[in-house]
Amino acid sequence: LPDIYCILMYCVSRMAVDGGHRDGGCDWDGRWNHVRKFLERPGPFTHPDFEPSTEALSGFRLIHVVDMDTIDVSNLNRQFLFRPKDVGRPKAEVAADFINSRIPGCKVVPHFKKIQDFDDSFYRQFHIIVCGLDSIIARRWMNGMLISLLSYEDGVLDPSSIIPLIDGGTEGFKGNARVILPGMTACIDCTLELYPPQINFPMCTIASMPRLPEHCIEYARILQWPKEKPFGETSLDGDNPEHIQWVFERAQERAAEFSITGVTYRLTQATCATEVFKIATSAYIPLNNYLVFNDVDGLYSYTFEAERKENCSACSQVPQDLQFPPSAKLQEVLEYLTESASLQMKSPAITTTLEGKNKTLYLQSVKSIEERTRPNLCKTLKELGLSDGQELAVADITTPQTVLFKLNFTT
Ligand SMILES: [Zn+2]
Repeated sequence: LPDIYCILMYCVSRMAVDGGHRDGGCDWDGRWNHVRKFLERPGPFTHPDFEPSTEALSGFRLIHVVDMDTIDVSNLNRQFLFRPKDVGRPKAEVAADFINSRIPGCKVVPHFKKIQDFDDSFYRQFHIIVCGLDSIIARRWMNGMLISLLSYEDGVLDPSSIIPLIDGGTEGFKGNARVILPGMTACIDCTLELYPPQINFPMCTIASMPRLPEHCIEYARILQWPKEKPFGETSLDGDNPEHIQWVFERAQERAAEFSITGVTYRLTQATCATEVFKIATSAYIPLNNYLVFNDVDGLYSYTFEAERKENCSACSQVPQDLQFPPSAKLQEVLEYLTESASLQMKSPAITTTLEGKNKTLYLQSVKSIEERTRPNLCKTLKELGLSDGQELAVADITTPQTVLFKLNFTT
């Protein structure tokens, strides 16, 4: 099934602010005329810092793109960068080749990698970061990365350490675009409650209101397979190509019936690109700060200001409180970290300091350590030797930084 998410991340770096006479004269007369109309005169919506100028920014000259996917046949619709001959090649490389050969003076550097493969020294070099990621975990990771780059002096944020993040996302016929100034405006984790925990799709969605390709697959797998018994009493085998083909075909029929495609994809992209232009040029006041749109029935769009959360675990610099009685088991703390709507961690690793030594209380990602620390889950906090006010350091794939919690014993 076609994936409906754009999984590209564009980083705009060291943008030239020339009037069009550099780069070996690759600019021609009139190349930037349309952009100049925005940059050379003020208007009622221009940013207070804006100074109309013929020297203004004329284009994005250096863009890095990070993407870990290769092109599938189903990716060929709704986009203009990939051709049938590119199937199997990395998306980042094909996108870069296409733009490099088509836009004189613009250099795109591809990275066929995960965003998590790069560290802070890589991300620090960019002026703006645009995300079209397909997962909340990846969004939170990038959000955490940009927050980790902020520098504070006596508790005051140094504005030059802020790298704006433009985030776009689509789901079925709905989309959103938001502008995040890390440390200043609401970050991804400030509004984490807006994202429902994604574990299982509600049965009513699967049975009667599918919106995503996944819902169609679940419909074929959970409802149609046991009813139609295409291979007799055999249960579905994920390694059997015939079984998968059957589920795939049924899911396709279901998707066609509910017209499931990603028509909002282009609108999300257009909105994100406009916001990058506004931030880079100061020509207009950026989106403040969250735009949603919905084309399920007609077209509806709405903008609101997502507010910062005072005690956000990602951007507030406020130590996070954990309230538990000494008789609570470590398992309960783990469940809180994963189930709390404002934390939604995935596989938290909990460490602390006991008698001056670092101690891992629980860690899932390494099998041998998981087995060794698993018995701790059934122990109470008291039995583990933890005391009131104890600091717990929690690492998770949702952030590149360790989150510090302070244990407050309740009675
Ligand atoms: Zn936040």
